[in-house]
Amino acid sequence: MATVRYKIHVNGIVQGVGFRPFVYRLAHDCRLTGFVFNSPEGVLIEAEGEPEQVEMFLRRLPSEAPPLAKIVQIRKEKIAPNGDTEFVIRRSLRDAAPVTLIPPDMGICEDCLRELFNPRDRRYRYPFINCTNCGPRFTIVYSIPYDRPFTSMRVFEMCSRCAREYHDPADRRFHAQPNACPECGPDVWLCDRLGRRLPCADPITEAVRLIAAGKIVAIRGLGGFHLAVDAFNDQAVNELRKRKRRPAKPFALMAASLEDIRQFCQVGQKEEQQLRSQIRPIVLLRAREDAAVAPSVAPRNRYLGFMLPYTPLHYLILKNHFRALVMTSGNLSEEPIAIANDEAIRRLSGIADAFLLHNREILQRCDDSIVRVYGGEARVLRRSRGFVPAPVFLKTPTRVSILACGPELKNTVALSRGETVFLSQHIGDLDNPEAFRFFEHAIEHLKKILEVEPEAIAYDLHPEYLSTKWALKQESLPKVGVQHHHAHLASVMAENGVEDRIIGLVLDGTGMGTDGTIWGGEVLVGDFSEFERWAWLRPFPLVGGTRAILEPWRVALVLLWEAFEETLPPSRLPSLRGVEEKTLELLRQVYRKGIHAPFTSSCGRLFDGISALLGICQKVDYEAQAAIELEMVADDGEMAEYTEAFSGVQGRGPVDTRPLVRSVVEDYLNGTEVEKISARFHNTLAGMFLRVLENVSQETGIRTVGLSGGVFQNVRFFEGLLERLQRAGWNVLTHREVPTNDGGIALGQVVVADARLRMETSQ
Ligand code: ZN
Ligand code: ZN
Ligand code: FE
Repeated sequence: MATVRYKIHVNGIVQGVGFRPFVYRLAHDCRLTGFVFNSPEGVLIEAEGEPEQVEMFLRRLPSEAPPLAKIVQIRKEKIAPNGDTEFVIRRSLRDAAPVTLIPPDMGICEDCLRELFNPRDRRYRYPFINCTNCGPRFTIVYSIPYDRPFTSMRVFEMCSRCAREYHDPADRRFHAQPNACPECGPDVWLCDRLGRRLPCADPITEAVRLIAAGKIVAIRGLGGFHLAVDAFNDQAVNELRKRKRRPAKPFALMAASLEDIRQFCQVGQKEEQQLRSQIRPIVLLRAREDAAVAPSVAPRNRYLGFMLPYTPLHYLILKNHFRALVMTSGNLSEEPIAIANDEAIRRLSGIADAFLLHNREILQRCDDSIVRVYGGEARVLRRSRGFVPAPVFLKTPTRVSILACGPELKNTVALSRGETVFLSQHIGDLDNPEAFRFFEHAIEHLKKILEVEPEAIAYDLHPEYLSTKWALKQESLPKVGVQHHHAHLASVMAENGVEDRIIGLVLDGTGMGTDGTIWGGEVLVGDFSEFERWAWLRPFPLVGGTRAILEPWRVALVLLWEAFEETLPPSRLPSLRGVEEKTLELLRQVYRKGIHAPFTSSCGRLFDGISALLGICQKVDYEAQAAIELEMVADDGEMAEYTEAFSGVQGRGPVDTRPLVRSVVEDYLNGTEVEKISARFHNTLAGMFLRVLENVSQETGIRTVGLSGGVFQNVRFFEGLLERLQRAGWNVLTHREVPTNDGGIALGQVVVADARLRMETSQ
């Protein structure tokens, strides 16, 4: 029978993930001849054989691809058969414009895990076991192509057995760049807080003993250091809080198995999927009432953040030793996570009692990612290890390569190349000098691994953001300032592949508006190129500026004064009785004169203020604490709304929240439990926004709304609003892969800048 031959192009994350050996095995399976190789445009295959065999090959290619591969596109064309007699893997081509994608780091696979605990395996208990389907990638790369000499593995020469695996296309470790064994690879050791090596037979066993004894051990991981502490030892966890200067923000936990996690949390099917995935994010889970972890792990929070072990070292530490460990990032309060051995000892010697170190250098810092399942979907709240540098794909390619500098807090940056946008790992709060250096490094590294020089820069309009200042200093490149909430709107559109005008409901803490005031409760109508501010929460003054953000009781005072026009004395509220008369008088003067009191329409501040009014949280130790604690007390079963509050919703312009505040205060003075009031507040606010959106829709005819901004991390509010919108027949765009908080705005900045530059050139 006549043979056929196809030329097949596969695009996406198909390099460094075992794709070629997979193709090789599949081709042999289908009795085809031809070849496969990595080209600058992805993986190129030519396959020849009997028609039904080739067809089977084409069918199985996407469906049986290796777990880490992400196929974006397969193009095929029929060409003339040439009578090849075998199928081979050819040497890779490399030229000026590669689109090679470095894969993200992946948690240990089932095969490697089995070998790790098999006493007869030559890698039994070897902490750096990995294969083509798992192990470090992005974090050990300093340059492309993704090849051992360009990773931190280059200092380890493979022994003959490892080399044989590496060169054998039939082996699971074929071209696994970090391949290693106890004979030839990296190793671990234990140090005291001064970096002196502790003599011990087995450093891992000794580290386990120290943690079990209540000590804090810094452990070098995949993307940085963790601080590990026994999750059941309240005293040890509190000691960690003290030394790390982190009084209240919840700590992440790592459990040995899913069964262990179920002891502490409710785990739904989607949550299980996330926990088990090789991305191995921290998943925020509803804690069981009887969860036995120390109360200091997550004070006043109904959720626990759990992840499963993702490196062999984690398994060796946890399995058969601990049901759960606190595994928080190795840093002091808001600094970036430590990655190098000497750096960790220098920065963490005041926190850790001992250090479990290793010599496989971490070249790119990468924090644990955070995911939460709510509103029916898994949503990424921090997109870092396991995701980066996998790109987000756009519907329309950017015309030029754009570097977006991101926000000030929870910074990430982004670089575009054609239809792909590469969001960086979580960088953090830029006002920290270490974080700012990290910001510059992350930009340089993205440019290097993508081999892209940006042709334009996008930045936030806030003149005080360090990312903005940096952007404005870059000479000879066109720059586009992007309004913060417009970037949020564009981000949720881009993630959902929508380019037509929509309504955006953007709710967050702070963003510079085009009128110089602080926005944050915005109803916008727009697309990538422009937007109109249709409605917003009625602005109120932030007495004391940024101090009001740290001390929400100040916001509570202002909300009270605004809502009752100063007729209700703050001392009537138990929550504000603690404020001294003198302080009160001073603040009243500031309020009346309006000095040091910038106006804001921020929705985040409204949550803060209500939280403080109800006596839930008066001062914060971490971002959004007051709002989070308000959500945490909300009564699940309470469905009532404050109907009087809906009078605050009118047409275009400000949405008056004073009737809502009055309802809350009156309910509170009547002695209603704060759990009920919190629930009613959430319900009412969702109901108010639904009404606003219906008004916009009536005027514009648009029935698609995009939700973005940090407030949508609030499960109660998000689900309440989503339900109302869906019931009313809205098409709702939400974030899933890109964070709804400021960690996602760099994506929006890219597409807005691209659209603006297009308009300029077409004029
Ligand atoms: Zn593996
Ligand atoms: Zn070896
Ligand atoms: Fe924001």
